[in-house]
Amino acid sequence: MGLIVQKFGGSSVANAERVMNVAKIVTDTYKQGNDVVVVVSAQGDTTDDLIAKAKEISDNPSKREMDMLLASGEQISIALLSMAIQKLGCPSVSLLGWQAGFQTNSVYSSARIKKINSARIKTELDNKKIVVVAGFQGINKYDDLTTLGRGGSDTSAVAIASALHADKCQIFTDVDGVYTADPRKVKNAKKLKEITYDEMLELATLGAQVLNNRSVEMAKKYNVELEVISSLNPIPGTIVKETANMEKMLVRGVTKDTDTSRISIVGLTDVPGVAFKIFSVLAAKNINVDIILQSVGRDGTKDIAFTVSTGNAQEAAEAVENLPFIGDAKVVRDDTVAKISVVGAGMETHPGTASTMFEALFNQDINIQMISTSEIKISVLIDKKDADRAVSAVHEAFFGNE
Ligand code: ASP
Ligand code: MG
Repeated sequence: MGLIVQKFGGSSVANAERVMNVAKIVTDTYKQGNDVVVVVSAQGDTTDDLIAKAKEISDNPSKREMDMLLASGEQISIALLSMAIQKLGCPSVSLLGWQAGFQTNSVYSSARIKKINSARIKTELDNKKIVVVAGFQGINKYDDLTTLGRGGSDTSAVAIASALHADKCQIFTDVDGVYTADPRKVKNAKKLKEITYDEMLELATLGAQVLNNRSVEMAKKYNVELEVISSLNPIPGTIVKETANMEKMLVRGVTKDTDTSRISIVGLTDVPGVAFKIFSVLAAKNINVDIILQSVGRDGTKDIAFTVSTGNAQEAAEAVENLPFIGDAKVVRDDTVAKISVVGAGMETHPGTASTMFEALFNQDINIQMISTSEIKISVLIDKKDADRAVSAVHEAFFGNE
């Protein structure tokens, strides 16, 4: 018995039947004698549909109004879930982000949680209610609604688990855990029992699409142990925590990220300060740069290429083109790329991981355009059309095909 935070994603509450299924899981947990706080996302594709509605009105709606609009998605799901819980005979109350005490900064559409004033939630728990909280949203110092960025309700769940010192934080989703590769694409993908925050962070950032990366950062910072678990198939999921049993695994997973674009600047004058000026203008625009490659200078010129998420590619290319020293250098944007990565805390101490990966790609005749490495990951940029084939080949090289 204890305090359990359970988070359900959009697909888990997509329709009435799914909402009833969630209510069953929640009330079962409650009937075992636990205090339960439930965090939910908007139903199914609601958030995408709301974004499409905004686009019908304006190409460039203000972010404040976008937050006002998007926050409505979660309002629907908390009310429906609370009704479903009550129908199953348990007391419950639904709370919007602001009612649950989520205070954020004022960066509309990607606000950060500053503080959770959990008094209201605690009172409701003391009154033996199941508390159903709208994920993804909060309120800023102007009393305006804010949202935390796409996939933000994972972060809401971790934040509330940390604020309440919950005994458990379960993230329910439509997959039954974290796999060595996307199980919908790679036949022999295996489910991991445990994974470290750092590995999960790499997998989340690299597009494993199971947990939002900010939620994992926060879980690491506040040491909130997470369980990723299926809302449809009640078997043990994957635990995300500080240290995990490697089971002699060198590589924990293989991922693909197709939301990436490459900007190349060809023929830059080879003088000091060029890289600094390029990347500081991108930083000033809050554009996150991933892989960076600079060629060896020759005949007084050099090339710099970098990747950004596709959504930022246009802005990044324009920012670079407008730099005064660009002169005759050519700025080329390429959206037909994908990033494939292998992740694992074990590779730090094992030589040969990179060569195994590169050999697998070579055997498939897949060309590597860029490479980057860190202590726990190796990423390559390749042609987007080869991405799925590359993931399968690299996965097989590390995990076999049994
Ligand atoms: N409903 C929001 C989104 O689709 C938040 C979430 O699902 O976590 O991004
Ligand atoms: Mg969603």
